[in-house]
Amino acid sequence: MKQFQTVVIGAGPGGYEAALELARAGVKTLLIDKSKEHIGGVCLNEGCVSTKNYLQYAEFAAKASYFGSRGVELEMKGLDIKALAMHTISLKDELRTGVAWLLEQAGVEMLYGSASFIDDHYLSVSDETIEFDHCIIATGSKAQELSILPIDGKHIISSREVFELQALPRSIVIVGGGLIGCEFATFFSAFGVEVTMVVRGTQLLSSEDEDLSKALLRAFKKRSINILLSASVSEVQVEVERVKLAINAQNEERIECDLVLCATGRIPYTDGLKLENAGIKQSDKGFIEVNSAFQTTQGHIYAVGDCIDTFGYAHTAYTEGRIASHNIITGEAVTNTHITPSTVFSDPQVATCGLSEKEAKRLGLAIDVKKAYFKANAKAKILGDDAGFMKIILSPQDEIVLGASIVGAEAVEIIHLLSAAIERKVTLKELAGMIYAHPTISEIIRNL
Ligand SMILES: Cc1cc2nc3c(=O)[nH]c(=O)nc-3n(C[C@H](O)[C@H](O)[C@H](O)COP(=O)(O)OP(=O)(O)OC[C@H]3O[C@@H](n4cnc5c(N)ncnc54)[C@H](O)[C@@H]3O)c2cc1C
Repeated sequence: MKQFQTVVIGAGPGGYEAALELARAGVKTLLIDKSKEHIGGVCLNEGCVSTKNYLQYAEFAAKASYFGSRGVELEMKGLDIKALAMHTISLKDELRTGVAWLLEQAGVEMLYGSASFIDDHYLSVSDETIEFDHCIIATGSKAQELSILPIDGKHIISSREVFELQALPRSIVIVGGGLIGCEFATFFSAFGVEVTMVVRGTQLLSSEDEDLSKALLRAFKKRSINILLSASVSEVQVEVERVKLAINAQNEERIECDLVLCATGRIPYTDGLKLENAGIKQSDKGFIEVNSAFQTTQGHIYAVGDCIDTFGYAHTAYTEGRIASHNIITGEAVTNTHITPSTVFSDPQVATCGLSEKEAKRLGLAIDVKKAYFKANAKAKILGDDAGFMKIILSPQDEIVLGASIVGAEAVEIIHLLSAAIERKVTLKELAGMIYAHPTISEIIRNL
């Protein structure tokens, strides 16, 4: 039987980051995942990296069409999605090899197989028993399936199967108006696929402020994306080549399409872990319960990333993995006090951080709101993308920046400047008083 000071379950962003920190601090660490191909988790293998690679092609197509009508002589013949899929596989292989190399260099021991708890100090992995002093669970999440839309991988797919498509559909219905739904609507519409979004709520990106979501809706409609709000699928009929859907919306709709993408959110993945054997509690929604130092109901067992109820982002998982390992190494109970940026790589991009206007209203907080539009920004004009805006939420007493949101070009990059301002309790005067390179989108801060 093998014995480790710390065992980490799951080699996604949360797990591998934690394992690296632990091993670099001299802790005897084992990292377990189902197979070598799972290193990097959902993020590397079927999430962040793949979607962003696909979206880079979409951005190129959109730019080509913009500059094509302004003098660049290009002939756009469409997308060879097989070539894109192949490129994405080699990109992922390269990145996975890089992560595996980092783990090896740090001295992390790897074990492949499905882990399950025997009790609160022993795990079983493919007939092997592992003893641990501490454990970090980082088993991530899986796509939520709707009983009315069972994923068959052919006509009704989840985000994972998008990367296996060998031909672009002529039409697609995307069920869900969250991050994943909006990013795929951007991708497919950029290549002329007829896109319909079926969104249960009253707006795209339901947790964001209404003005952001309206700006995204406007841009999507301009691109002929058909968006059905307050809508749900009530009937599905799969035929040889087509899927027929009945949609409950303002008016009862019947839609036919080649493909349905179910993008209705992610749920925590703890299948087969046998958490009950270790006395680890889960919430009603299946999240592993943790305190602010990421300890589960067993103090020596931690949980991080998508399997707990925090923001479902890779950067959240990385941060939590680092903090949990710090707590194991030092015996401290450090919490995550950082500001998490929320990012949607749609076209236009949407990025937010800190307090939103919606949340301030819900909490009854007095705030000041300032907005600056991209219309007068030189860089936005040069990019041919001047429909966006930046919004800042300020404390009315001292003008300290409490929250920020951006919809428009380069939003996912600029947001970090605003996260830093919120974390460091900077005032708008201080932020706007900095020197910004010209012409950049960031300099719009001076117009707030
Ligand atoms: C389409 C899509 C796009 C996304 N885009 C972004 C983005 O742009 N930016 C961003 O920040 N986030 C994005 N995300 C979210 C991001 O992928 C997740 O937040 C992140 O992967 C969570 O990391 P994690 O370490 O918690 O778990 P995961 O990455 O899910 O990794 C969990 C690992 O645990 C392993 N595992 C599970 N159970 C066991 C077991 N019993 N034994 C052994 N191993 C086990 C799994 O095999 C897996 O490798 C996206 C997600 C999707 C689906």
